[in-house]
Amino acid sequence: EAKNNGKGQLVFCSEEMKQSLVEKMYMTNSLYRALEKNELFLHYQPQVSANSQEIVGFEALLRWNHQKLGTIAPSEFIPIAEKTGLINSIGEWVLMTACAQNKAWQDAGLEPVQMAVNLSVEQFRSDDLEAIVRNCLAETGLEPRYLELEITESIAMKESGDIANCLHKLKDMGVSISIDDFGTEFSSLSRLKDLPVDRIKIDMQFIQGIAVNPKDESIIEVMIHLAKKLGLKVIAEGVETEIQLGFLQDEDCDEIQGYYYYKPLSKDEIEKNGFALFK
Ligand code: C2E
Ligand code: MG
Ligand code: MG
Ligand code: MG
Repeated sequence: EAKNNGKGQLVFCSEEMKQSLVEKMYMTNSLYRALEKNELFLHYQPQVSANSQEIVGFEALLRWNHQKLGTIAPSEFIPIAEKTGLINSIGEWVLMTACAQNKAWQDAGLEPVQMAVNLSVEQFRSDDLEAIVRNCLAETGLEPRYLELEITESIAMKESGDIANCLHKLKDMGVSISIDDFGTEFSSLSRLKDLPVDRIKIDMQFIQGIAVNPKDESIIEVMIHLAKKLGLKVIAEGVETEIQLGFLQDEDCDEIQGYYYYKPLSKDEIEKNGFALFK
């Protein structure tokens, strides 16, 4: 079947395209009910000190286990959640669940560490994010310093006074802020200077260039140096090999997150045998 796309070109709608469109519509419809059907849950990926190898935090990562489609990756359903506005209710659930989990682990005797939660730009647009975060902390009893909010570099660099204001209010509350996927957008350094940021997360694409592409290594060196000069902590994402780890340790990177140490883990895997994994 062919149709005109309006620019005088014929576009063919193959069976596969129809199939994937139907799947997407089906997925979108299901996502509306995923929360109430308890199909969403969190995994937690430990973050490790590059020096002491101790766990210094976790990142909460959303998972969707669809009753028919099985596990669906965040890269597939987060964009749908953002387009439909569902990310607001889902994001609030993530915040609440992650804060409650972190508090529960502290109460169970795990050394108190930060829990990082990813935020979408939509959450800055349509809701009173400050009130939501405040409420999550109050409800769960988690101290603000044990919550970190991750915003992507593209959110951080938006020339929006509202976003900057909101970040300052969150920071005043005692919550930490980190910039995710750092290096993938073109950062305005003056904006970085003005935002209340505590930590940058070097994107995995640069880490993959270690021992492969000297330009990636140079960029990592500059990012770590920049972070230190600005008084920010720096964590490397997606560290998988000993060679990558060694390079980052030599460059004085503070913290490491990646499969080399831990994959994202379920609550049960973390709690197994009294947190034996971490001992
Ligand atoms: P992100 O925030 O940059 O998270 C890091 C991603 O890298 C995660 O993918 C994690 O599983 C993966 N990763 C960690 N270490 C390694 C490694 O050593 N090797 C490789 N190959 N991958 C590694 P995941 O869980 O699929 O999440 C993808 C993205 O989805 C996240 O990227 C984040 O942007 C988004 N996301 C996940 N959970 C949430 C959420 O609760 N809210 C929002 N708004 N976005 C979320
Ligand atoms: Mg993240
Ligand atoms: Mg990232
Ligand atoms: Mg990413």
